[in-house]
Amino acid sequence: MLQAKLEDGRLILLASHQKEQIHNFRKQRFFCPACRKSVIIRAGKKIIPHFAHEQIHDCELNKTGESLYHMRGKLQLFHWLKKQGYAVRLEECVKDSARRPDLLLHTSSGRELAIEYQCASISDEELMRRNEAYERNEIFPIWILGGNRLKRTSTYMFDLPKREQRFLMQHKQNMPLQLLYYCSDTETLCNVQHILLTGKKQTVGQFFFRPLQSLRFPQIFQPLPKNLSEINQAWHSVQARAIAKPLTYAPVAMKRWVMRLYDNGLLLQDIPLSILQPVETQYQMSVPPYIWQTDMWLEVLNHLSVTESISLKRLMYTCRKWEVATKPFAISSNKHPVQSYMQRLCQHGWFDQIDSDTFVKKKGLSLF
Ligand SMILES: [Zn+2]
Repeated sequence: MLQAKLEDGRLILLASHQKEQIHNFRKQRFFCPACRKSVIIRAGKKIIPHFAHEQIHDCELNKTGESLYHMRGKLQLFHWLKKQGYAVRLEECVKDSARRPDLLLHTSSGRELAIEYQCASISDEELMRRNEAYERNEIFPIWILGGNRLKRTSTYMFDLPKREQRFLMQHKQNMPLQLLYYCSDTETLCNVQHILLTGKKQTVGQFFFRPLQSLRFPQIFQPLPKNLSEINQAWHSVQARAIAKPLTYAPVAMKRWVMRLYDNGLLLQDIPLSILQPVETQYQMSVPPYIWQTDMWLEVLNHLSVTESISLKRLMYTCRKWEVATKPFAISSNKHPVQSYMQRLCQHGWFDQIDSDTFVKKKGLSLF
């Protein structure tokens, strides 16, 4: 932890003091702000001055097993926000809970934001617990992942395991989906926007690396330019590769679906690539796009004749079995993936949208 309390109750941020002062502090007793147990000073040439519990025991500020990388980044973000005039607190307790976000920020409009600089992996249960505490207190969570966790594989691709899709953020409707990474070694913020999930850990996105000091806080949420055709191309190539090879490590439900396809005399490779369309809200689905989208064609869309209409509700019902219960926490969109998918088919001239719930088939496609 970066801060601890003196016997008189004063909260001391050790890293903001000079070497001599820290030396003097060593003669005094400090206490953990969370559990009130005695803590000791850790300071030296290569480390960020901080406090540590004397003994390992169950404490909210003990659990994190903070790395130096994390501590440094937390401090840099704290100073960066403070310099911009924000009311920001380090490791402060959220009321009615033991939860202590890395940074707690009060905006001028009266909103509270919890900024979590997440450098280590975190269990799903822990993540749920934190978000429940924030939700209860109407605190909006902002996840900034450690730059050490960004696994970029090519210009428009990175690896994002399913568990980490929880950190996807979209603070307002019509804002791009994004992920934030911060590297405390280079003091660089990486904004990944225009993210398209593929159903595998390979994920499409556009990367923007900027020095933290060149940015103001609201800027990290602003939409950045989009290389539309490159992004779509990267997404389509993952889908093409996925259907070109047999499923080896797939959940039972997916394998069963593919078996049904075989029973109908079809192979995965028979799926026409043109019907596969990227949608931003893929995180709401438990299976890759090529499965739920093909499923919609097999169940409903293929059987429609030209000029016949279909309701969005009916299509959503077909896909209900593929929806997931666990969604990202910091998302404000309520658009259904099926809705986005149908609108993309309209853009391609295959359907027309008549009203908010109805689509009409425009072209007779004999896909299967
Ligand atoms: Zn403690």
